[in-house]
Amino acid sequence: MSTALVWLRRDLRLADQPALDAACREHDRVCPIYIHAPDERAPWQPGGASRWWLHHSLTALDASLREQGGRLHLAVGDSLTVLRQLVRASGADAVYWNREYEPAAIRRDTRIKQALKSEGIPACSLPGNVWREPWEIQTGQGQPYRVFTPFWSRLRTQVTVAMPLPSASPSQWMTMENTVPLRALDLLPEIDWTQGMADVWQPGEIGAMNMLELFADDALNHYAYGRDLPARHGTSRMSPHLHFGEITPQQIHHHLHQRMVNATTRQHPDLEPYLRELGWREFANHLLFHFPHAPTENLNPRFDPFPWADHDAEAMQRWQHGRTGIPLVDAGMRELWHTGWMHNRVRMVAASYLTKNLRQHWLQGAHWFWDTLVDADLANNSLGWQWVAGTGADAAPYFRVFNPYTQARKFDPDGIYLKRWLPELADVPLKLLHEPDRDRAALAARGYPAPLADPKASRKHALAAWEKVCGRPRNQ
Ligand code: FAD
Repeated sequence: MSTALVWLRRDLRLADQPALDAACREHDRVCPIYIHAPDERAPWQPGGASRWWLHHSLTALDASLREQGGRLHLAVGDSLTVLRQLVRASGADAVYWNREYEPAAIRRDTRIKQALKSEGIPACSLPGNVWREPWEIQTGQGQPYRVFTPFWSRLRTQVTVAMPLPSASPSQWMTMENTVPLRALDLLPEIDWTQGMADVWQPGEIGAMNMLELFADDALNHYAYGRDLPARHGTSRMSPHLHFGEITPQQIHHHLHQRMVNATTRQHPDLEPYLRELGWREFANHLLFHFPHAPTENLNPRFDPFPWADHDAEAMQRWQHGRTGIPLVDAGMRELWHTGWMHNRVRMVAASYLTKNLRQHWLQGAHWFWDTLVDADLANNSLGWQWVAGTGADAAPYFRVFNPYTQARKFDPDGIYLKRWLPELADVPLKLLHEPDRDRAALAARGYPAPLADPKASRKHALAAWEKVCGRPRNQ
């Protein structure tokens, strides 16, 4: 009787699971394992919100396995040491996993694969949670793409509606005795601040499908327009589910396509813009794979001499806690703190205010998002921050500074989002909410702070600093 270990990492699901599928087809007994070794992801160990998610996602996966007579084997420690012990204890003939594309994970997997191979233990890695692996998409000159639009044009031709793999089910699940309890992973905070996240999210494979159904029922029908309005549930909220591999882009594509085929109109103009957003996720993974320094260094080295302002502890704290005095920024930062998620439009505005108006280095913002987002993802977070800061390969030009007042007027015209997250301003007239400088005294009387930096004046300073490094921007 042959046995396989399936090492689960960022693929906490049973359906459309290449490693689990291959192990089930090729072996009689399969043992799914999760090894907690956060330091192997250093310096990007999971932050607080991610740990909360991971705890519940592992719980959900274990419950699904138990329904089928299996169990998730948990271990803590150095991954190679644990794998060796488990191979010995189970008599496993092979180890399977799905690939990851972060630099630390690639280093770890390469080292482990070589070590296992040298000990006569076959280690089989399969494609990770992307449509196409990063080396499969190249320019005509065999180079990685650095610009999204041509990347997407190439990828789109290769993205077809493929049938996802069915939920894996071996002849026999194997369980071992020496599993550690989930609490040994120590993922939950000592003081519980997680209720806001628990109110909004259902981590795990079932939660991912429920959220996708919700999106397909409603928001998908007006995604192209609704995706920019933070007051609505206008986007799919798939990001944490995708990050933890509870669902794949193939499953999402197939599911939405099926819904479209079954619908009476057979037309869904909003599916294409949605797929394009998933394309940004692929692009981020592609960039991180080819440019592994992206999480900490400017993708565009032209910005290396940029004169960031000195670290300003007070400004950082006020930004983090939603007390900058700029309503849209503060609403977004409070949404993040409360729910572990922030709307994409508001992420852009909050990041722009930090990097351009306050001229704090983008890495400081990236670190805060890393700790507080349930969807904190090294590829997407690095790309997002570098895009907004203007330091990325294919980024918004530095001189495009979001005006947070104009953005609020345009994308939250009725102030619903602002009032939801800034209850102290719930009774102020809409005009004042959108133009807070008209009567700062009235806002101060409600406990709302004065602005850290006036958007217009600080924009001028940012542009002057930019000119010093890169010359006068065109189109100005
Ligand atoms: P939808 O609009 O429903 O999009 C569907 C999926 O496409 C998302 O789940 C996501 O996987 C992908 N996607 C959408 N927009 C982008 C984008 N701009 N870049 C890459 N992928 C995208 N996303 C993360 O998943 N993790 C992060 O840590 C992260 N940090 C960000 C930091 C900044 C400063 C910015 C500006 C953006 C960041 N994003 C990040 C991208 C984006 O904001 C989120 O993916 C999106 O808001 C998630 O919500 P959704 O699932 O409802 O998106």
